Amino acid sequence: MSETNSRRNQNAGKSAGQPRPDEETRDTSPAPPAAATRDHVRAEHAEEPDSGPRRAKPPEQKTSGGSAPPATEAVESDDALEAEQDRKIQVSEEVNNPERILRLIAQYKREHGIPVDPDAESPRSGATRQGAVRGDDRTLDLVFRGQRILTTAGIVPREIGIRDGKIVAVEPLGAGLTGTEEVVVADDEILIPGLVDTHVHINEPGRTAWEGFASATRAAAAGGVTTVLDMPLNSIPATVNRPALEYKRLYARDQVFVDVGFWGGAIPGNGPALRELHDDGVFGFKCFLLHSGVDEFPHLEADELEADLAELKTFDSMMIVHAEDSRAIDRAPQGIGDEYQSFLRSRPRGAENLAIAEVIERTRWTGARSHILHLSSSDALPMIAGAKRDGLDLTVETCPHYLTLIAEEIPDGGTAFKCCPPIREVSNRELLWQGLLDGTIDFIVSDHSPSTLDLKDLEHGNFGVAWGGVSSLQLGLSLIWTEARRRQIPLEQVVEWMSAKPAKRAGLRSKGKLSLGYDADVAIFAPDEAFVVDAGKLHHKNPITPYQGKTLSGKVRRTYVRGTQVDFQQPHGQLIRRGEV
Ligand SMILES: [Zn+2]
Repeated sequence: MSETNSRRNQNAGKSAGQPRPDEETRDTSPAPPAAATRDHVRAEHAEEPDSGPRRAKPPEQKTSGGSAPPATEAVESDDALEAEQDRKIQVSEEVNNPERILRLIAQYKREHGIPVDPDAESPRSGATRQGAVRGDDRTLDLVFRGQRILTTAGIVPREIGIRDGKIVAVEPLGAGLTGTEEVVVADDEILIPGLVDTHVHINEPGRTAWEGFASATRAAAAGGVTTVLDMPLNSIPATVNRPALEYKRLYARDQVFVDVGFWGGAIPGNGPALRELHDDGVFGFKCFLLHSGVDEFPHLEADELEADLAELKTFDSMMIVHAEDSRAIDRAPQGIGDEYQSFLRSRPRGAENLAIAEVIERTRWTGARSHILHLSSSDALPMIAGAKRDGLDLTVETCPHYLTLIAEEIPDGGTAFKCCPPIREVSNRELLWQGLLDGTIDFIVSDHSPSTLDLKDLEHGNFGVAWGGVSSLQLGLSLIWTEARRRQIPLEQVVEWMSAKPAKRAGLRSKGKLSLGYDADVAIFAPDEAFVVDAGKLHHKNPITPYQGKTLSGKVRRTYVRGTQVDFQQPHGQLIRRGEV
């Protein structure tokens, strides 16, 4: 048993490089239900930065010293991995138990005076959706006019007319559209479609100290992002069944400043819940091929992935995959201490390449739709390009940190830079840009995955125990624009990568373009305005970012969601469902 325990600790600290949320798991254990609920509410309202789970213990050293282990040890290691997986599945079954979540929902509704009908709309969003009754339906609510409006025809002089949150007129500048409110886009500004960030970890409920609906969507709006899709894990419970989705929506309602939709999660044993979640409006399903970093979201083995892909194909949903291979990470040297190179060696490209190959082949065999999340290893580009040539319905995203940062410049102890898969060498970064330009990589999203400062182990800078995740939701556009303009890549291309393309893949038919019939989600962007990143001034809940002190060009000055300017006081965002937007 001690061997198993030792390996469990090792895996827990290392496989995702992320802490085990023992504390959280205890807080949300099913018995007694009343205590669990109380703890939830407490976690919910806790604003102290240290109210998250306790920092994980440092992982134990591998006895084999990091070189390739002999075969017998590999077998033991596989056994240990299986035992570890069994334990996580048990944790998941307790934490994500639908009956337990239904009790939490009932409790939440009682405490907040919400009708018990699960489909009851929030009064505010219902009123917003219906709009006011209009006497003259020629009146526009809002008109934007300016020399530089980014439409489907490029950056051109235009007037944009908006009524009831939709774009209803796109005319040449000078057409003289009139509206209740008129906004002149200044000569140093460009009106762009709001960005669509399909990869955000909001972490509420359950780990609201890490982020939360209000703080995340304020940050999004400040960065010109008008739609976010929330990931199914790091919140507690994880979004792996219908009650969990309803519970998350309860928390989100009335506190979102931009539109928010949800991904479901695919974990071992929740196959029957996938269709229910799909019918309830999730945009697709996320799975991991290795330890996710939180016990209540266990990963899928390749055969389970294939079974779920086949299931998703029956209702045309999509699987989005964290592609690093569990066993390849387990065999890699262990990343401990404050040396970045040591951490990098612990998350080799091979682990990504192997997992991506697996996703490609299982996608081929099932004919399903899949998507590779946060591509870091440029080695995988040729096989992804090959899969696309073969006609597989496969897309790929990468993130600002892989496109703007390089391993060579990450300081030892710089755990703000820790993410999984990791930021790699400069040559890798250059190939990722090439992959974007030649279309092998489809789009750019943040993978905003914050935690408390405590979990980043700032005191010791130990990459082995620090939480793996980079905060950048508010900065994405400026980061990519700063780097893109250096490479003579036009803003139209950047916005396509960050708005139209992710919107299209997620099935958000009314997002991502300034065009007739689309939602009036826009940002006013000043491409030449420079600023210095100050983590303390961002809307992110925890003031830590690897971009601290960087000078960026391009600033979002104002953001509108469905024709209403975001004022950061009154939330006007909506909770969105697949098929409805
Ligand atoms: Zn993520």
